[in-house]
Amino acid sequence: MPLHYGARGPNGCSGRHIRDETLKSRRTATEIPDVISEAPSSLPIDAPAAHSGPDRGARSLHTLRSKAPVSDTELATQCVLDTAARASTATFIYPGVWLAITLATGASSQWPWLVWGNAAGLFALSLMRFLFNRDLAQRLARRPQTAKRVFHSLSLVSALYWGTLTATTLVLAPAAPVSWAMLSMTATMCAAGNTMLGFNPVLRYPYPLMLMLPVVVVQALQPTRENLLMLGLELVFMGFLVRSSALVKADYWNGRQAQRLAELQARELELASLTDGLTQIPNRIHFDRQVKYEWSRQCRHGGHLSLLVVDLDHFKNINDSFGHPFGDTCLKRVAQALQGAFGRSTDFAARYGGEEFVVLLPDTDEAGAQAVAKHLLDAVRALSLDAEGMEVRVTCSIGLASTRPRHDQSPHALIRRADVALYDAKRGGRNRVEVAPADLTAG
Ligand code: GH3
Ligand code: MG
Ligand code: MG
Repeated sequence: MPLHYGARGPNGCSGRHIRDETLKSRRTATEIPDVISEAPSSLPIDAPAAHSGPDRGARSLHTLRSKAPVSDTELATQCVLDTAARASTATFIYPGVWLAITLATGASSQWPWLVWGNAAGLFALSLMRFLFNRDLAQRLARRPQTAKRVFHSLSLVSALYWGTLTATTLVLAPAAPVSWAMLSMTATMCAAGNTMLGFNPVLRYPYPLMLMLPVVVVQALQPTRENLLMLGLELVFMGFLVRSSALVKADYWNGRQAQRLAELQARELELASLTDGLTQIPNRIHFDRQVKYEWSRQCRHGGHLSLLVVDLDHFKNINDSFGHPFGDTCLKRVAQALQGAFGRSTDFAARYGGEEFVVLLPDTDEAGAQAVAKHLLDAVRALSLDAEGMEVRVTCSIGLASTRPRHDQSPHALIRRADVALYDAKRGGRNRVEVAPADLTAG
């Protein structure tokens, strides 16, 4: 026969056995890898569950202030947005610089079709990039792979177009002012692109390569003294770019990683501050936030909000008879039972302190809350606890209060009413639910 603490249940105590599950240890922040290798896809970023059970965690997280850590996909998307933001100032640089160089050097009167035709081509391409990038965030949200592909392709096509124009001037007018100006502008674009885009794993090498490849091919095919000299200098320059872009990339990704780690740790800390250390369910601070949140939510929707205050019966006797460690085990099991006993994702249980728990039932009227309270009463009563081979049972008393929240009232009155009802339940013999009288001030 089990040993009963608290009031004995009216129907005896059917022994429902609940496995003593070890609460999952929360994952701690992981170390920062040096730098994300070419594609940023290798970070372990599992967000820790807020409280036991994925559903419980998800629903209680809306009260957390710190942003949840981003996933790898989000990080890769952020990289594209950062690239677009850096490149945006240079969108129309290609047609602008082309016109400036060709007009200043007289190339526009020598090859008008070439100059104006390509000015129009460069402008059309820039306009396309501008229009595409304007809604880039939405495009990335809708079809991320396609948006990334188009974004990178447009950047590389622009670079290749410019490189081809530079190579064309080298063929048409070798060692003339127009080709020298185009060449120096191409080198400048390589250097600027390295600083601005070098962190992007897709553009890091291909962007300067697209700019320089046509030039290098033309110079290699026309091995004059000047061309060979320029070719040598360009290869040294490209080597320098490869080396320095590694630093640009490392700076960017290390910064992003550090930011992510800081967000993860902030979230861990916030979760810890809202979780009861013993039972691993939400604590009183979390409850205070949640009740305010649900109060204002119901004020807007005009729904019901019910509150149960659950207190274990004669719990002091359990500690006195079996010691505090066993009492702690009881509290953990009761917390699990409370959390497992209701079904709606918005229902919320917390440890209020000591051997008292609170259960918040949004969109639940008094009749519904009574049914839940009865279920909780049975769930606690059915717990079978093993104290060194002896079966121990516990019971609880529940105070219930229900209302339709209003903006000109606060949740404190609801808590107070549930508390008074709890003491009525204690006085009435324990192991029972007592309902607070209707709130006459509520609408
Ligand atoms: P009642 O039916 O009137 O509620 O009687 P009770 O013994 O449950 O209430 P009382 O307020 O007299 O005692 C509450 C006990 O809960 C006292 C304390 O030993 C125990 N308690 C509170 N917090 C903890 C805890 O974290 N761990 C353990 N093991 N016991 C706790
Ligand atoms: Mg008690
Ligand atoms: Mg108490």
